[in-house]
Amino acid sequence: MKKKILVTGGAGFIGSHLCERLLNEGNEVICLDNYFTGQKANVAHLIGNPYFELIRHDVTMPFFIEADEIYNMACPASPIHYQYNPIKTIKTSVMGAVNMLGLAKRIKAKILQASTSEVYGDPLEHPQTEEYWGHVNPIGLRACYDEGKRCAEALFINYHRQNNVRIKIMRIFNTYGPKMHPNDGRVVSNFIVQALKGNDITIYGDGHQTRSFQYVDDLVEGAIRLMNTGDEITGPINIGNPGEFTILELAEKVIQMTGSKSKIVFQPLPSDDPMQRQPNISKAKEILHWEPKIALDEGLSRTIDFFKTIV
Ligand code: NAD
Ligand code: UDP
Repeated sequence: MKKKILVTGGAGFIGSHLCERLLNEGNEVICLDNYFTGQKANVAHLIGNPYFELIRHDVTMPFFIEADEIYNMACPASPIHYQYNPIKTIKTSVMGAVNMLGLAKRIKAKILQASTSEVYGDPLEHPQTEEYWGHVNPIGLRACYDEGKRCAEALFINYHRQNNVRIKIMRIFNTYGPKMHPNDGRVVSNFIVQALKGNDITIYGDGHQTRSFQYVDDLVEGAIRLMNTGDEITGPINIGNPGEFTILELAEKVIQMTGSKSKIVFQPLPSDDPMQRQPNISKAKEILHWEPKIALDEGLSRTIDFFKTIV
């Protein structure tokens, strides 16, 4: 059955992949975005499809529409962009959640929150399970994002407990792929763009910090599976690829795969940069029968092919 689905942040990196997949599955999609870090170009190919609508709107302001499902993806995700206007980042997470939850309550829609592994902060438990409460600095440079997302989770669970809103909280771990903005600032796109241009590869710190990188198609599959679960499943559920790499390993891989002559240079580590991150995905396996399918080499190769067309 054709569903009417609202995707906030739909012109962003992940949102645009999600809009495309939901449309391909025969749904009607309303993409809402204020174009802070997203771009019309990401969804330009969908304009003209009679079941796709693109709306310029800021989620910190109320929005009214009829829909069966809401994916709340709106929020800058790259540290340089979310730290550019930290107050606005908090407002986007918190007021955006209030506005979208209020809408979901009124129209009785299911609503999924794009939460993040950043709710675990610089984790003392490794790998991270959903039961871990995290280790977050509430006054650090990342707090606008981490605490905004934590507050959004609290709003989601309380709209569920108090008002029976049908919620799904998805904790996304580092996701990469085609359509990342070349100036996004996150590590995978930075390294690939630097390697393709022959510029220095900038490692922050000594490169021994780790991340677990998930290809965007795996994430979109996980998000849709979570949305399609019964009302008793609220999450939070980790969606990520457990393959863990140091940032130095990533840099070396990108140099090797692009055949670049770029040199690695070391720059200061930003404050509160987490030392390690790896999802425990037992819950996603058990509840969603989901696990990532695309290994880092395959995902990087597809992403490098994309960046070759734009840089
Ligand atoms: P992105 O920056 O490419 O996309 C975010 C989108 O939200 C952009 O299109 C931006 O213009 C839009 N937006 C920002 N503020 C808005 C506002 N006030 N009103 C309306 N639209 C607004 O980032 P992404 O990687 O696609 O991330 C999407 C979501 O997934 C975010 O909520 C992010 O926190 C979450 N997430 C992403 C990752 C990742 O590794 N990519 C990891 C954890 C969580
Ligand atoms: N990083 C890096 N060089 C870059 C960009 C990022 O070494 O050009 C590091 C960053 O300090 C962090 C890791 O790569 O340790 C992942 O950074 P990203 O911004 O992609 O995501 P997050 O820190 O939010 O997981």
